[in-house]
Order: sequence, then structure tokens, then C-alpha cells
Amino acid sequence: MQRGLLFVLSGPSGVGKGTVLDHLMKDYNDIEYSVSATTRKPRPGEKDGEDYFFISEEMFKEMEENNEFLETAYVHQNYYGTPKKYVKRCLDRGEDIILEIDIQGAKQIKEKFKDAVYIFLLPPNYEELKNRLVKRDSETEESLKTRLKNANQEIKETDKYDYNVINDDIDDTVMSIKEIIKKERKKKGASIKDE
Ligand code: 5GP
Repeated sequence: MQRGLLFVLSGPSGVGKGTVLDHLMKDYNDIEYSVSATTRKPRPGEKDGEDYFFISEEMFKEMEENNEFLETAYVHQNYYGTPKKYVKRCLDRGEDIILEIDIQGAKQIKEKFKDAVYIFLLPPNYEELKNRLVKRDSETEESLKTRLKNANQEIKETDKYDYNVINDDIDDTVMSIKEIIKKERKKKGASIKDE
């Protein structure tokens, strides 16, 4: 059986990755989403096991020591990681899966997956990104500053991605990503380097 395809979606905080993913998950029943683990506190409305596995730092370290993550990163002063088991199981079953991870995580995935597809979501401009983050009202002033500072760093890495998509209009963005998925599905599936 051909392995599933692995899609990696990155982009600065506030660019709209979550909204794009919500649309994709609603419209596709044959693409899975990898729920990450994080030591960040849940935001209002976020559900454990759906948005993230919200875990303690001790638990994160334990999982890391047990080699349970495909990749991990320290982002905006919190730990994040992709649990390995679910991703492997989906790919082995020939199911496509999407990871929403930062640029450090994407680099680690690149070392393990030869044929993963890397998509970077960009804001139309810096001011718009700032507006979106402020409007979201989910961050403290300090966290907002960190996220905007990191955004500048992240945007420098876009050339390492197969596709750059500017998220100006959400419907256009979702359509562009669907086109990418369609195109990549026509090519051969992902393969994993033996660890
Ligand atoms: P947020 O706290 O806004 O949900 O996410 C902050 C950042 O962490 C985003 O850039 C997001 O892509 C990234 N992120 C979320 N989950 C993971 C993960 O499992 N691994 C890595 N490397 N980054 C993640």
C-alpha cells in the first residue's frame, strides 16, 4: 500500500493557520490532523485533545525522554511537540495527515520525511499581522511582543518551504491550499526514513 502524504503548515502566530485548518478539516474527511502536545495554558474555548494535548512540563520531558515525539520546539516560551504514534499510524495506513508546526519543527521533519510537503502561510503585510493578533485578544502584552518578534524571524525562512501562500482572503487561501493538496496527491506518497 502506498504511504499517506505528510503536509506541514507553518506561519507566524496570528496569520490564520487555525482558521485555514478548520476549513480544510470540515471539507476533507480523508485528511487527518495531528494534535500537538504543548505546555502552554489553554486559551478560552480550546479543548484538550482537540486543539492540543495540554500537558505539564514534567510530562513533556518524560515523553521526550521516551522518544514519543517526531519533533519538538520551544516556541514563544512554551514547549510544543508532535506525538509520533498517530502520525506514523496514519501514514502507514495510507492516510494523509497535516501538521501545524513552527519552522524549527519543520526542519526536524525534513530530516525524517523525504517527500513531505511544506506550506508556509504569510500575512499580506506586517501591520495586518499585528492587527489580527491584537484583535484575537488572546495574548498578554509580553506574549504579543514575543510573537511579533518571532514572526520577523519566521518570515525569513519561507524559501525553505515548497509553497508560500498569502492569507489575504480566507476563501482564496483555502482554495489555494486545496489545489496544492490535489496536485501533491497526484504525485507519489510520503516516505519515512527509518529511524
Ligand atoms: P499557539 O500557541 O499560537 O497555538 O502556537 C504557537 C506556535 O507553535 C505556532 O507557530 C504553531 O505553529 C507552533 N506549534 C504548534 N504545535 C507545534 C508542534 O507540535 N511542534 C512545533 N514545532 N510547533 C508547534
